[in-house]
Amino acid sequence: MISQPRSSFASANSARPNRTPNSPAAKPQGAQPFNSMRNFRGPSFPRVRTTIPTPATFGKKLRVMVVGGLEEIGRNCTILEYGDDIIIIDMGLQFPEEDMPGIDYIIPNMNYLKGKEKNIRGVIITHGHYDHIGGIPHLIPVLGYPPIYGLPLTNAIIKKRQEDYKGLRPLSIHNVNLENKLKLGIFEVEFFHLNHNIPDSMGIKVGTPEGVIIHTGDWKFDYQPVAGDAPADLQKIAKIGSEGVLALLSDSTNASQPGHQISESEIGTNLEDIIKKVPGRLIIGTFASLLSRIKQMIEIAEKAGKVVAIEGFSMKNNIEIA
Ligand SMILES: [Zn+2]
Repeated sequence: MISQPRSSFASANSARPNRTPNSPAAKPQGAQPFNSMRNFRGPSFPRVRTTIPTPATFGKKLRVMVVGGLEEIGRNCTILEYGDDIIIIDMGLQFPEEDMPGIDYIIPNMNYLKGKEKNIRGVIITHGHYDHIGGIPHLIPVLGYPPIYGLPLTNAIIKKRQEDYKGLRPLSIHNVNLENKLKLGIFEVEFFHLNHNIPDSMGIKVGTPEGVIIHTGDWKFDYQPVAGDAPADLQKIAKIGSEGVLALLSDSTNASQPGHQISESEIGTNLEDIIKKVPGRLIIGTFASLLSRIKQMIEIAEKAGKVVAIEGFSMKNNIEIA
């Protein structure tokens, strides 16, 4: 049984930037001593560009609707709507709590899109974790099979999972690369690399007539990522920032806590200590989607002369896909 919770739309209609010019006092005064925090005004960010209404944009509003995934773990899904154009970012599921007997998982409530299916220009998936892709088999048919865009590993996991749901039409699914620019209706979509514990994780830049929306998916800045990954594309991120951003949608586990996450390679060192110290058999439980972490474990086990046995349906599938 699948539960659809009550809608949790957070509508940020046409969040327009402040048009009041900076007061003279707020202008940077050149190099200032840091001896008083009272004088420190922080870095100066460029003002967000605003567009002059045209016949194509007159009277239209940008709607940013977070249907799930903010301040909760699971069912990540964000809808952007401008006039007759809609794009969806991520379509995840949430696992039930202990007090939800009979519920297998929870999917985003898409009732808002009823009657607007023809306006959906595309579904963009930031990465292959189930809390970002798990709603696809349940929601894509209801939404009229809009095209899905993702990086290759993400798409491979989506396609493999789709095989478990018999009787569905084939997905319209398209590989993108980080240099691609997509035009989905009025939206201009670009991508940038971020670090996470599954390869092929990306952030999304969406150009709209109101300004640029950034959606990061799950992310961290890892300056020493595990082998095969590269650090987040800070240059591209800085360039996007310098051009002006209307809204940053960024929610990642523990992101609200101050400080810095340790690098995945440091986690690898800890794992190595543990795995090497155990004289006999060692059983490790982890999410099947933590593919970078699983890769680390297999490599460490190999170095320690241990034989690896993989157990679990999704675990076997994901490793085969990767
Ligand atoms: Zn994730």
